[in-house]
Amino acid sequence: MDQDELSKKEIYDVIIIGGGPAGLTAGLYTSRARVSTLLIEKLGIGGQAAITDRVENYPGFIEGVAGPELVHNMEEQAKSFGVKTLFGEVTRIEVSDGDSVKKVFMHDEPEPYHCLAIIVAAGHEQRKLGVPGEWGLTGRGVSYCATCDGAFFRDRAVAVVGGGDVAVEEALFLTRFVSKVYIIHRRDRLRATKILQERAAKNDKVALVLDSVVDEISGDATVNGVKLRNVNTGETSFLSVDGVFVFIGWNPNPSFLGGLVDKSEDGYIIVDKEMRTSQEGIFACGDCCEKNLRQIVAACGDGATAAFSAQHYVETIKGEAYV
Ligand code: NAP
Repeated sequence: MDQDELSKKEIYDVIIIGGGPAGLTAGLYTSRARVSTLLIEKLGIGGQAAITDRVENYPGFIEGVAGPELVHNMEEQAKSFGVKTLFGEVTRIEVSDGDSVKKVFMHDEPEPYHCLAIIVAAGHEQRKLGVPGEWGLTGRGVSYCATCDGAFFRDRAVAVVGGGDVAVEEALFLTRFVSKVYIIHRRDRLRATKILQERAAKNDKVALVLDSVVDEISGDATVNGVKLRNVNTGETSFLSVDGVFVFIGWNPNPSFLGGLVDKSEDGYIIVDKEMRTSQEGIFACGDCCEKNLRQIVAACGDGATAAFSAQHYVETIKGEAYV
């Protein structure tokens, strides 16, 4: 769909904000229910799944499936039922009492898009370490994506910071290229799932540096190492590495919602079991919501529920609800 063909005069039934697995599944469900749907994505379709080398726990794929392939198929499937997509950044949503039409404002565009229901599927973004050297050396040895940058570190030593599923999964992926990968974790044990821990323990290229934090990433033109501090003894040391991959969790994305919906203390959207937020007509799904299990399969489930709820909300407004 040519972006210029997307009318700001049309009132879409549903606007979905975010094109990861949650948003794509929501789009599949709404468009298949013949609910007119515009999906807005800031960067690239697929979200985090699109830069995940291999997904092993999405049902139906015995050998696992490449993340980009999985989300490409989700996108094509949603589009085949009529979802329209638009690339750009949503900056603000406006709702008015007594008016079921909601306005979605985009960066650098004075006129909004209009809709009856909104599904927020904006995901979350990777947390930064916030230590000296990180910002200046990003793209010059500091990376947040092993799939994107791993091959640049062939036969070199790298550090992975973090102890969760992503850190260990990405460290294992990096062993395809690098000579050594040090997993630097601030506690005495990893947070990652046991099966990943077992794989890391069996891999000669992986070394754990526990109870340690990175105080500084050093290097001039490119990274040459990290300054470490043992959290128990306070002892400092220098680890020579050519790359630093940071996987220390996530911060929620949807700042464009302002105070429109209730959020948890750490900024995630609070939804009920129907994926309704505290604001009528605004639904949310996937990693931007407060939840315990952040996985592709769970995001897809959330997306389907949000779509179902939004569909019923729209049909009720239009007087088309099936009773
Ligand atoms: P996560 O589970 O929240 O882990 C973040 C890790 O970073 C933790 O080990 C945490 O340490 C550490 N950390 C946080 N802030 C830090 C800081 N400032 N300095 C140093 N270390 C810091 O995040 P994730 O690994 O990105 O995973 C996100 C979600 O996706 C999880 O729910 C995960 O299960 C899921 N996921 C699942 C799979 C899978 O099933 N195959 C794959 C990918 C992701 P502490 O342990 O001390 O808190």
